[in-house]
Amino acid sequence: ETSLTKSKSLPNRLRFDFRQQNSDSLTLFIYTTCINLTVENIFVYIENSKQILILVFIDGFIHTIAIDLLELITNEFTVRISSDSRTQIEIDLNKQIDRKWKSIGKFLPNHLSICTVQDFDPIYFTVTLIKRTPVTYNTDWYTFSLPSNVFMVPPIGYHIRLRQAKDGIIIVKPYTVVNRLNNGENSSSKHTIELLVKHYLDGIMSTTLEKLNIGDTIEMSSYEGTFDIQRIDMCQTLILISAGTGLTPMIRIMNYVIQQTNNGKHINVFLVFFNRTEKDILCREELDTISKQFKFVVHYILSEPDTEWTGETGYIRGELLHRLLPPSPSKDHDIQTLVCICGPIKFTTLAVELFKEQNYNDNHLHVFLA
Ligand code: NAD
Repeated sequence: ETSLTKSKSLPNRLRFDFRQQNSDSLTLFIYTTCINLTVENIFVYIENSKQILILVFIDGFIHTIAIDLLELITNEFTVRISSDSRTQIEIDLNKQIDRKWKSIGKFLPNHLSICTVQDFDPIYFTVTLIKRTPVTYNTDWYTFSLPSNVFMVPPIGYHIRLRQAKDGIIIVKPYTVVNRLNNGENSSSKHTIELLVKHYLDGIMSTTLEKLNIGDTIEMSSYEGTFDIQRIDMCQTLILISAGTGLTPMIRIMNYVIQQTNNGKHINVFLVFFNRTEKDILCREELDTISKQFKFVVHYILSEPDTEWTGETGYIRGELLHRLLPPSPSKDHDIQTLVCICGPIKFTTLAVELFKEQNYNDNHLHVFLA
């Protein structure tokens, strides 16, 4: 509880500055105290070529930079972490009219405000469907392209929301940002977002998505989430507990582990993947390939198996976890084990209870909730 109270105390405000080396461009400088900043911490949105909104995600907080610029800019901008100081963000803007500005413009009321990730109202923008390929009989990969006025590279384990007006009501549904299981490439393109969508007969959002043609648009939000990928760097044993589309956050996590493996680090990975039937198992071919190649232990458990299935069956339960997984951590503060859990809410609640019964505590568990 002490650490929770500590981490919830409001962080210092970011500092902000700008410079005009040439009259046709301008660089914004944002100074943080975060030593492991990456472009995944930064979301940029330019509205009407005039207002710029920058969100910086640090330690569960969102810092906002919001400026009504003096004059118009183009949508061609670049975002980078300074090569001089890894705690500094630099954003190059290009002016529509080539002349020096006397000031940056006006700070908007939320400029330099700070709020927790949970309290933040996401920003919405329009994305275009550029590709759809099947994964299983009822699940497809969707690739959306981001508009040029948005920069976002969602961190591993984070989700976005899709929003659509339907019959006079607004429907919103979260989806984890994924990329395909591969040999450790996590570099999702800066211009596209991939989602894995399961189509349900009565799915209010998925039936809308199913009807989208290539080139059609939908509203997407800025990203949200609480997963800290550095937690993986600390662990030797990584247990992934997924049910159905609850595989989605684990895909990028596994890609990250593979990347670390390629860099010489070793993590023992156990995936226990719960599904109704065999044909519901997402990405099975890729999972089987990486389990062989990287010695990940993968177990499939079916709750509605057909008569041919000879593997494990039923719902998640203590006996099963005890049998399939390595012994539970011996000490409360042992952070060498991490359990990630994702799936239907009743499943995740039950999974947390079962792990807690087996000597795991909150330090060992991360539950993906959207
Ligand atoms: P599903 O209904 O096909 O069920 C998959 C498996 O979950 C079942 O085979 C069973 O083993 C288990 N399960 C289901 N109900 C259970 C219960 N009451 N008790 C114990 N186990 C149970 O799953 P689906 O249709 O693929 O749905 C996946 C769910 O995961 C969705 O609800 C989705 O919102 C959620 N999800 C959440 C996130 C996130 O929060 N970040 C990400 C992805 C998916």
